[in-house]
Amino acid sequence: MDQIPITDNHIHVDPINGEGPLEVAKKFQRAGGTVMIIPNKPTWTLGDKCTFKEAMDQVIKYVEEINTQTDVQAFAIVGAHPAELSRLIKEGVPMEKAEQSMRDALQTAQKIVIRGKAIGIGEIGRPHYDVSPEEMKIHNELIHYTFELALDADCAVQLHTESSGEEQFKEFAQMADDAGIDKQRVIKHFSGPLVLEEENHGLTPSLIATKKVIIEGLKKGNNFLMETDYLDMKSRPGAVLGPKTVPRRTKALMQNGILSEDDAYKIHVENVEKVYGIRLF
Ligand SMILES: [Zn+2]
Repeated sequence: MDQIPITDNHIHVDPINGEGPLEVAKKFQRAGGTVMIIPNKPTWTLGDKCTFKEAMDQVIKYVEEINTQTDVQAFAIVGAHPAELSRLIKEGVPMEKAEQSMRDALQTAQKIVIRGKAIGIGEIGRPHYDVSPEEMKIHNELIHYTFELALDADCAVQLHTESSGEEQFKEFAQMADDAGIDKQRVIKHFSGPLVLEEENHGLTPSLIATKKVIIEGLKKGNNFLMETDYLDMKSRPGAVLGPKTVPRRTKALMQNGILSEDDAYKIHVENVEKVYGIRLF
């Protein structure tokens, strides 16, 4: 079997709390991985005083390290995680002020994308835990604002949300339509196998690369991306899938004939190029 490109659409690297960009990229590459899409980690993982811009600048630096020192092709995604808003509110920052700093952060992210240093805005979205209706309203407004920024910058968005079924996908698709953004370029990170259009309403699902989810997804089609959501945190080694999972899963499914080479190429190359507007090697 020829080597085909293999993309992990959501993988983190963290030299402070984990092994860092080069170690993770080397593990990924040894397993057969070729492309890493890397969102910045939340500010608090980089220290108490870390600003949004610093967190974004760090991921750009990690991506440059991977691109210059390994054969993996890495791309950055920059944004402000919804938990950042919750954190500001918990710290006693007034709602309006907290919302404004999130908006400023999202603008910063957009500027970085326009400068060509990142290929999309994310992860942004709604929390996976309960919050007050007032706070939830702001999260939804920030999603809408991000879609407007993405439309203006002509870029993709990676959504972090509560666990989502058809109903939530429909809601996000409606929000994308309201903002006028191409729904295909709205990627639902950490998705279940919602591969049929009537399930995802035109959004692009990034399937979590467990055996069960990928096999289920492949039964419905190949219009999806694959990811681990690897956190690169030594304190939480088993929190999500390891960095070798996407290449290993892809190869194993190809070997036992569940995944065809054409489908693999669609998932790991064509879908990635189309959604982000990039070229892979
Ligand atoms: Zn993430």
